[in-house]
Amino acid sequence: MNPKSHASSSILKTLELIFFPSYCKLCHKLLDSPGETVVCRTCLEELKFHRASYCLCCGKFFDTYGQPHLCYKCLEKKPDISIHRSCHLYRGKLKDLILLFKYQKYKVLRKELAAYMNKSLAHDEALWWNLDAVLPIPLHKKRERQRGFNQSFELALFLGESKGLPILQGVLVKKTNVPPQTSLTAEKRKTNNQGAYEVSCPEKIKDQVLLLVDDVYTTGATLKECASVLMKAGAREVRAVTLAQAP
Ligand SMILES: [Zn+2]
Ligand SMILES: [Zn+2]
Repeated sequence: MNPKSHASSSILKTLELIFFPSYCKLCHKLLDSPGETVVCRTCLEELKFHRASYCLCCGKFFDTYGQPHLCYKCLEKKPDISIHRSCHLYRGKLKDLILLFKYQKYKVLRKELAAYMNKSLAHDEALWWNLDAVLPIPLHKKRERQRGFNQSFELALFLGESKGLPILQGVLVKKTNVPPQTSLTAEKRKTNNQGAYEVSCPEKIKDQVLLLVDDVYTTGATLKECASVLMKAGAREVRAVTLAQAP
């Protein structure tokens, strides 16, 4: 930026702070640094990466530290998702940010959340190796209209762009508008999504290694159902990433 335009943007920022002050939605501090919107830089920097051990396959965090290994469930039966990774547990500032993004419709947070996802999972070579495309978990058309956007698509978009991968939108579709998983008991969540998804153009995913993207992993029922549908439609391998998983 040249000195003249830098000076005029500082004046604009000062005028904005005087006439339209805005505050961090999490800590209520005045947003006075360049580029700050909705939440302050300090709150964003508080997002940490989970350090506990996890299952190499389903990605479920263990209560212990040490080498990642397979959990008893994945040892018993190999799931359709070959690798799933979450950045952290669904609690604290990360949970608050996801709620702001998803339900308060602060779509602008997609960039910060996708960057956090990218950074916290960057070291996981097995997750990124040989991927062909990124797929968001679709919402039913009616739900997407109500919300105004699909949070998984917004994350997938930034993730795909940063990795130089195509984003397959509309290939996996939700054909029935089932009740939201969060409104159901763990037992009902297992069957709620069965038959709710389909692949609209199987030729686009044939023999492809795919990465599913979602915001929260609760029981994993949605991701498992989507992976199963994609594998049946001809995908070679399905992996998944989520911002957070239920503790
Ligand atoms: Zn803050
Ligand atoms: Zn597992």
